Amino acid sequence: MEINLLKPSEIKVFLDSYVIGQEQVKKVLSVAVYNHYKRIKFCNDTFKEHNVEIQKSNVLLIGPTGTGKTYLVQTLAKIINVPFAMADATTLTESGYVGEDVENILLRLLQSANFDIKEAELGIVYIDEIDKISRKSANLSITRDVSGEGVQQSLLKILEGTIANIPPQGGRKHPQQEFIKLNTNNILFVCGGSFEGIEKITANRLQNKRIGFINSNKNIDLITSKINNTDLIKFGMIPEFIGRIPIISILSKLSISDLIGILTKTKNALLKQYKKIFEFEDVDLEFTENAISKIAYKAFTLGAGARGLRTIIEELLMDTMFIIPNDPAITKVIVTASSIDNPKKIEFIYNNTKQLQRRLHE
Ligand code: ADP
Repeated sequence: MEINLLKPSEIKVFLDSYVIGQEQVKKVLSVAVYNHYKRIKFCNDTFKEHNVEIQKSNVLLIGPTGTGKTYLVQTLAKIINVPFAMADATTLTESGYVGEDVENILLRLLQSANFDIKEAELGIVYIDEIDKISRKSANLSITRDVSGEGVQQSLLKILEGTIANIPPQGGRKHPQQEFIKLNTNNILFVCGGSFEGIEKITANRLQNKRIGFINSNKNIDLITSKINNTDLIKFGMIPEFIGRIPIISILSKLSISDLIGILTKTKNALLKQYKKIFEFEDVDLEFTENAISKIAYKAFTLGAGARGLRTIIEELLMDTMFIIPNDPAITKVIVTASSIDNPKKIEFIYNNTKQLQRRLHE
């Protein structure tokens, strides 16, 4: 497999075309990924000659839900051209308990590499909701171990680099089973979580130092930018776990103008996607500028980041998408600001000739 080793600035340009905002995170990830694959490319010769062993660059992304954590890593994997797998930390258990063994994450990576072990060994794994396995987090599943600490312990080895034994069919491990051996030494792990409330821990620490931070909404971005390892450990991550993730990067809440960008500007912009869906029916879908602002504002107040956008548009266009295939005379659909709260106000433009042409074709 040929790894597409671009310079950090080139990786960032690619990320920019898909991901709005999060400038610092995009830079951090571009450099981390570049160093990671550079290390792999040269680890067998150059670095050894110099007696330097470059450590893994696992990354921790902290930020509210729907701000692009998963999307950033997905986009990265696409440009680097390596297998990618995603896992949810809340479903994991430490070995011996009912639930998912951490090795199943690697199985997913193998599947994404079509069971090519060499390829999978260079892949990227994103583990979401990592904050939910903190020592203090409430027990999300009654079948999981009480604290989450055990799951952190189980993840240590694969994060650091080990030869993992993967059950080929997934599920629980059985002693008699044949395992697939996968070396995780060159797999890049990115963990993500919202770490709700961690800013209070950070603010307290800063205040203790008499720097004079007040825990108000005004400087929340300033406070979260100062989250460090001590705060993460206080939050409930075990020091050994944090020790294996040397790079921490913080995503900010998306502004209304960021949300407008996600609707309209990116390569994969949401409105472009819906326009395409309508194009398949020969219908031109148009959103007025005010409508776009209103959707962004509505998503902003929902507080689920960009995730709210799709929910709003799906609800908004549901009836329209139901009707359109039945009515070939519709040539254009206009979504105005007033239709955002009342989809019945969406305007349809008809063209009788189009209807006639379709009939002739049928
Ligand atoms: P989370 O931070 O919870 O992992 P995701 O990355 O899964 O959020 O975001 C959900 C969806 O919202 C993505 O698939 C993407 O379409 C969109 N999205 C989120 N953040 C951004 C962003 N900064 N730029 C562009 N799209 C985004």
